[in-house]
Amino acid sequence: MLVKKDNRLFQQRLLHWYSRNQRKLPWRETKDPYKIWVSEIMLQQTTVQTVIPYYRKWFQLFPDIKALSQAPLQKVLKAWEGLGYYQRAKNLYRASQIIMEKHKGLIPETYKSLRNLPGFGPYTTAAVLSFAFSKPYPVLDVNVRRVLMRLKGLQQEANPSVDKILKPFLLSLFLPRKSSLFNQAFMELGALVCRPQNPSCLLCPFQEFCQAYQEGTQEIIPRPKKINFHKIEAVLGIIKQNNRFLIQKRPSKGLMADLWEFPGGKIKRGETPAQALYREIKEELGLKVKEKKILTQVTHSYTQFRVTLHAFLCTLHGTPKANNQALRWVTLREFKNFPFPSGSVKVIEFLRNNQNRISINQAG
Ligand code: SF4
Repeated sequence: MLVKKDNRLFQQRLLHWYSRNQRKLPWRETKDPYKIWVSEIMLQQTTVQTVIPYYRKWFQLFPDIKALSQAPLQKVLKAWEGLGYYQRAKNLYRASQIIMEKHKGLIPETYKSLRNLPGFGPYTTAAVLSFAFSKPYPVLDVNVRRVLMRLKGLQQEANPSVDKILKPFLLSLFLPRKSSLFNQAFMELGALVCRPQNPSCLLCPFQEFCQAYQEGTQEIIPRPKKINFHKIEAVLGIIKQNNRFLIQKRPSKGLMADLWEFPGGKIKRGETPAQALYREIKEELGLKVKEKKILTQVTHSYTQFRVTLHAFLCTLHGTPKANNQALRWVTLREFKNFPFPSGSVKVIEFLRNNQNRISINQAG
């Protein structure tokens, strides 16, 4: 158990551990608030290894806030393709425009102004203020939360009522003079040592302060959240004419908003994939499917669900009119200009690798 007089020892051990064990990460080599902000948004719900190439490429495309604010939204979403949670990219984009309009292109340095920008929740606000401006805000991220819960031996789910207990605890340990260093060190310890599974307690500098370690409960803290992970089956119509494929834009609100997709949709209960294809194409394009053949089947797991996509190559009675913003005919090469959900990216990959099979007459 940590008592007040131990706090100093705790801080010393944490910083000492960090000085010897921290990873070299690109966003730790800068104090540029824009770069720190982008890294914090990308790292939400996404692993460090996944983020690094996206982070590097981002600044080639959008070297500063002005460049980001002036880019077309589609280019921003394309740069985000594969990272998921596209609302994060949209918030970055919208916030960059507000920063240009209202803050002379500079990221505000006060909690209130930052918190008012899209995508700046309590965590991101504290992180940017601490890492970019060395302001004295402790950061409670998923890693820090787990360490704190184990230090206190709280055998429950991580939720807002637990945060009410953890915030004053974190504040009591916090080192305001070295805000950035303290926060980064704490987060790093959670990521590398006090991991969700198999924490390396024998290497941990906090063993003697840790309730969970002493009680042997570290593996069950925090208790896993009950997630209703459901399975979705959907069909896609790959409609090809004159070496171009028909794609459509998703609505601007809701799941995967503003991304592009092939026509199609969910298979309803009792329907076969082929029946769903006929129904969806009729509903979306107002046309009947003439011929079809199954091309490929891919699965992709999102956070809350797993989708199986049945991709059919098909021909139609009539030609859809791609005369509005939401419908386009594009070549294989032009797919690179349009952001797609990750499941559709796998289908596009299949099309690229199997160009000789994308003919309805060859395989019938
Ligand atoms: Fe986490 Fe183990 Fe360290 Fe406790 S002793 S903080 S459970 S790594």
